Amino acid sequence: MSAILTLNAGSSSIKFSVYLRGEGDGGGEPEEVAVGQIDGLGPEAKLILKHDGTKAVTDLGQADHKAGLKAILDAIQPILGDNAVTGVGHRVVHGGTGHLAPAVLNDEILTELAGLEPLAPLHQPHNLAGIRAAMEAFPDAIQVGCFDTAFHRSHPFVNDTYALPRKFFEEGVRRYGFHGLSYDYVSGYVEETYPDLQDARVVIAHLGNGASMCCVKGRRSIASSMGFSAVDGLPMGTRTGQIDPSVILYLMDNHGMASKDISDLIYKKSGLLGMSGISNDMRTLLESDAESAKEAVDYFVARVKREIGALAAMGGGIDALVFTGGIGENAWQIRERVCEGLEFLGVTIDAGANQTRGTESIGTGPVKVLVVQTDEERVIARAVASHLG
Ligand code: ADP
Repeated sequence: MSAILTLNAGSSSIKFSVYLRGEGDGGGEPEEVAVGQIDGLGPEAKLILKHDGTKAVTDLGQADHKAGLKAILDAIQPILGDNAVTGVGHRVVHGGTGHLAPAVLNDEILTELAGLEPLAPLHQPHNLAGIRAAMEAFPDAIQVGCFDTAFHRSHPFVNDTYALPRKFFEEGVRRYGFHGLSYDYVSGYVEETYPDLQDARVVIAHLGNGASMCCVKGRRSIASSMGFSAVDGLPMGTRTGQIDPSVILYLMDNHGMASKDISDLIYKKSGLLGMSGISNDMRTLLESDAESAKEAVDYFVARVKREIGALAAMGGGIDALVFTGGIGENAWQIRERVCEGLEFLGVTIDAGANQTRGTESIGTGPVKVLVVQTDEERVIARAVASHLG
């Protein structure tokens, strides 16, 4: 057996999964044997490792990406035994216009990806720090980058552009769309599991702390609610979602806000947190009696509904609506409220099935309504396995 490690490196965390696969003849589907994450990179890092039904937490103290990876390597060694890590897969937020598929990483591609940092300044530098650390820690393994933007490169021009002078489009000011690994997994799962949904028009709602939606047709992305950055579209835990650009101008002119202040406001202080003034966590808001919590949830639901209508129109109809992500998979109240009043689209659900954890198919009308657990790490592991051959 050989091992594959998947990494998702953020500013203060590294999420990882460990997979084993057989030798020869493609090696078969990678089998997940451990998952974990390092939180609090910086002065108070800690490593959480889940394996074989157990969970271990280790305080690491001061740790950067490099020290974090070393800690991961030490922690998974007993699980790996004699199975060497032959491939490391990385979640990379931005692949620009050039990357339509996972790519084997080398110095040249890393330089190109570093050139995309202005397009995703809050994520790309940390993804690349994780890759560089992994290249040092696993010099003999292939390193594969899997891009959140790649799945959306199939957008037709009208869903890839803004109505700006053409030179900005050429320069890269486009609607990239994100959460591509999740949409890749979910659309593949839906087609494999439901033969009647081959080539179907599927609207997928990835509702987590980050949230977006996508219209997929025959496993190709037609349109996404996210655009140039991961702040567009739906309101999220702390991000505004769609906002009139004139609001930004107003804030600059009347509140003296500079780019950094506005970035903080629209990425970190808005969304469910900003509206409620209570929390970015949907569970907390659903349990709260505060009017502001209710209003934040109302706004979230309204924007998801609006996006379903828009994406159904882009697909020329809708055959299936899929909920995924932490909120989509777990918050039955949100699914119920989103589907309320969508009978005109053929979307109706069984209230009992919707409230029963683990029930996948909850629709009662012509549109299949599904609750699917996403698995972005598996998409990465499969990409690494396919490059290993
Ligand atoms: P991320 O975008 O960070 O991956 P997740 O997909 O893990 O986020 O989703 C986190 C969100 O899911 C949080 O808002 C959390 O409150 C919500 N969530 C998780 N479980 C439940 C639940 N049982 N009911 C309601 N919301 C939930």
